Amino acid sequence: MFLKRIEAYGFKSFANRTDIEFNAGISAIVGPNGSGKSNVVDAVRWVLGEQSAKTLRGGKMQDVIFKGSETKKPLNFAEVTLVLDNSEKQLPIEFQEVSVSRRLYRNGESEYKINGENVRLQDIAGLFMDSGVGKEAFSIIGQGRIDEILNSKPVERRVIFEEAAGVLKYKTRKEKALRK
Ligand code: ATP
Ligand code: MG
Repeated sequence: MFLKRIEAYGFKSFANRTDIEFNAGISAIVGPNGSGKSNVVDAVRWVLGEQSAKTLRGGKMQDVIFKGSETKKPLNFAEVTLVLDNSEKQLPIEFQEVSVSRRLYRNGESEYKINGENVRLQDIAGLFMDSGVGKEAFSIIGQGRIDEILNSKPVERRVIFEEAAGVLKYKTRKEKALRK
C-alpha cells in the first residue's frame, strides 16, 4: 500500500485545488520556509482523523480552512482526499484504489467519505486500524516523536508495539464488547 495522490482544496495554504502525485518508493518535498511543506503532512494527518487543532498547528479546527490572502478571498470549507494504492489488499476493502476524504465547513460541519460514500469518522479509523497507517500509527513520525517513543514508559511503549503487531484492533473490540 502506498499513497498515490493528495487532492487538497481550501486546506491551509492550498487555496486552489492542488493535486500532489506520489510513486511507490521514496518522495521528498523541498521548498523555501513557509511554502507549505508541513501543510502537506498536516493534510494527511487531518484526513486520517486528527482531532487536535494543536497537532495541526492551529488554535481551533477551522484554522485549517484557507483564511484568505492579499489576492484571494477566504474559503468556506477545506477538503482533502487521500488516494491510496490497495492492490495488495492491506486495507480490508475490496478496491484496488481507496480514496478517503474529509471536508470541514466554517460552521463546524464535517463530512467524511470512503470511495465517495459518506461515512463516519470512526469508519475511517476502522479502515486504517492495524494497517500501520492511521493517525496514531507510526506512518507519520513528527518532530520530537522519536524522543517521545524512547522516553515513554514501558506500558505506553507497549501500545505502539501492539499497533505494529496488529493486535490493537482486537483489544479495542474486546473492550467495546465488555462495556455492553
Ligand atoms: P518550514 O520550512 O519553515 O518548515 P513549511 O514549508 O513547512 O516551512 P508550512 O508550515 O507548511 O511551511 O506553511 C506555512 C504557511 O502556511 C504560512 O505561510 C501560513 O500562513 C500558511 N497557512 C497556514 N494556515 C493557513 C490558512 N488557514 N490559510 C492560509 N494560509 C495558511
Ligand atoms: Mg515545516
